[in-house]
Amino acid sequence: MRAAVLRGPGKLTIEEVPVPGLEPGQVMIKLMATAICGTDVAVYAGKYPVSYPLIQGHESAGLVAEVSDGVIGLARGDRVMLNSLVFCGRCRWCRRGDTSSCIDGGLLGREYPGTFAEFVAVDQKQCHSLPQDMSWVDATNLAVLATVVRSQRRAGLEQGMSVVVIGLGVSGLLHVQLAKASGASPVVGIGRTPWKLELAGKLGADQVMSLQEARGLKAVRELTYGGPDLVIDAVGVTETVDLGLALVGRGGTLLAFGVDPGLVSTLSSFTLYDSELTLLGSRAQSPHDMELAIKASRTGAVDVSVLTTHRHELADLPSVMPLRKLKPEGLRAVIEIDEAVAGAVGKQSR
Ligand SMILES: [Zn+2]
Ligand SMILES: [Zn+2]
Repeated sequence: MRAAVLRGPGKLTIEEVPVPGLEPGQVMIKLMATAICGTDVAVYAGKYPVSYPLIQGHESAGLVAEVSDGVIGLARGDRVMLNSLVFCGRCRWCRRGDTSSCIDGGLLGREYPGTFAEFVAVDQKQCHSLPQDMSWVDATNLAVLATVVRSQRRAGLEQGMSVVVIGLGVSGLLHVQLAKASGASPVVGIGRTPWKLELAGKLGADQVMSLQEARGLKAVRELTYGGPDLVIDAVGVTETVDLGLALVGRGGTLLAFGVDPGLVSTLSSFTLYDSELTLLGSRAQSPHDMELAIKASRTGAVDVSVLTTHRHELADLPSVMPLRKLKPEGLRAVIEIDEAVAGAVGKQSR
């Protein structure tokens, strides 16, 4: 099969590699689409310690091509999206549903062979059924939505809460939509790029404003009656985390959703004490979050289709990755993987 193989930082090539073998409980997936996520770019750039050679990619969907002994409820030709996290299902974190904190877990395309390939072998626990009418490209966006669902659940987001979202990239725009669908009011979007601010407004933000305007604090405080109940930082750099800390209302929560290695925050214990601040992290997604994400998209609560701005083929990856590493234009880039092979696997749509 063809796969995008990373042989060292920045050294990505399309190669012919053996189709993986199936272990008991595993399912072979004929991959149809995989999105390029920030983690993939960081792995490509050598920012994670990984073992080379490595097949990259993790936010993906495809068709069940083969099932091993012991697999129940999945059959050849089924449409599925993949939980990118491998988890043991036995440790105490898995048993309480926090599979993203699994003590024995890892990520496809980082610790395990990934999905910028024609096939991948995954555990049946990682497969989630997709609606027939959902496109492969949209399905890959549900992977991000599941992480957004998890973080808002952890933040206890409920009807009537005032929410500020800093950063209006892919995850920020999903945060805006999901908060709105959950009854948050008002939902304020803060960003840098004019067209993203405009898009956030179209997707339901009650108000949008530039980072510069938000830094004045007054505008946000007025809109949120003294300060938001929940600030979601979807960027993760020092500038946005500090803005979030300055904005959040008394008794409120700062959800540190975005992740960036360069973060050096000025958080003091008095910031926590004076306003009884809750500082919250959230990691990846659980199977439950995956199902909720599929449902949120299916009911129309969240529109994931607007997020994809670039489509490529597997062969394009070595030239596309360096561009994503620089300053990516647009929002999501998705790799569509050879439709012709899928025809041989079984039933499919779109
Ligand atoms: Zn990802
Ligand atoms: Zn576990």
